Amino acid sequence: MSVDRSSPMSSLISLVVPFYNEEESIDLFARTIMPVLAAIPGTEWEIVCVDDGSRDNTLQRLIALSERDSQFRIVELSRNFGKEAAMTAGLDAATGAAVIVIDADLQDPPELIPDMIDAWKNGAEVVLGRRLDRSSDSAAKRLTASWFYSLHNKLSKIKIPSNVGDFRLMDRCVVDALQRLPERQRFMKGLYAWVGFRTVTLDYVRAARHAGETKFSGLALWNFALEGLTSFSTLPIRAWTYLGTVGAICALFYGLFIVGRTLLLGNSVPGYASIFFAVTFFGSIQIVSIGMLGEYIGRIYMETKQRPIYLVRKVYGNIKR
Ligand code: UDP
Ligand code: MG
Repeated sequence: MSVDRSSPMSSLISLVVPFYNEEESIDLFARTIMPVLAAIPGTEWEIVCVDDGSRDNTLQRLIALSERDSQFRIVELSRNFGKEAAMTAGLDAATGAAVIVIDADLQDPPELIPDMIDAWKNGAEVVLGRRLDRSSDSAAKRLTASWFYSLHNKLSKIKIPSNVGDFRLMDRCVVDALQRLPERQRFMKGLYAWVGFRTVTLDYVRAARHAGETKFSGLALWNFALEGLTSFSTLPIRAWTYLGTVGAICALFYGLFIVGRTLLLGNSVPGYASIFFAVTFFGSIQIVSIGMLGEYIGRIYMETKQRPIYLVRKVYGNIKR
């Protein structure tokens, strides 16, 4: 079924932008993005800026923007909930026929937006931006990211396209589908992949951050990767069952061998070294597998509490639409 979205009536499109301590980026962001949006024919825009509990002047600057320009709507979260929750808040607040998610630091090129809109008008339900060149990210980040994607895609049935970030256009039907996913621990890249829909990919070169610094340190990325793996695959937890079974079978045969040898040859030199090895080796495997279980149980615990994904303190700007 082909969809024609190029009707003469102009359609409202939402831009969703998460902001966390981005006071230095805001003015440049607005100055860069507004002319790009204004130049796209047949579109009206609302810009949903989510202030994710910033501790600097981000909120004040965003409010000032919304007072100058009615296209801006500011959703202020009650504290820092993290980028995934901030994007969810933005998607929930967006009312457009399509929604584009973009970073505040202009690492995703706004120049790609007109092409995304074209692809959408030609029937795509999801338009992904794929980073061709990530030389603006550190070598360690690129390497760990590629490890993560290949491991994730081996373990999980839901494949996440590599080098695709959160920069994307989604049709209203995709946003509605995302809103039906109830999980509290939101690994958005996995959720995006899970909902599916007709997808088109556009390539771009990822720029360096224009101002401020990255909010994702090594530890934050590690937690993010664990979140992704355990949200979309139970293989890490199941693998221990097999490993444990194989270990137990080996131990059984070894036990039989020892008994046989003692009966035939009498008690030889006590195997202190092998016992010591077995105790420490299997002991540590057990601790690792308990940790693995803990990862999942922790997640079950978080989900059962059914807490909201984010809390809004206040919405500024054009609320009624
Ligand atoms: N961000 C957010 N909440 C957070 C961390 C980041 O809303 O807790 C936003 C941030 O303001 C930016 C986007 O997420 O708009 C991407 O963050 P960043 O540039 O630090 O990530 P990187 O590009 O280094 O992966
Ligand atoms: Mg960035």
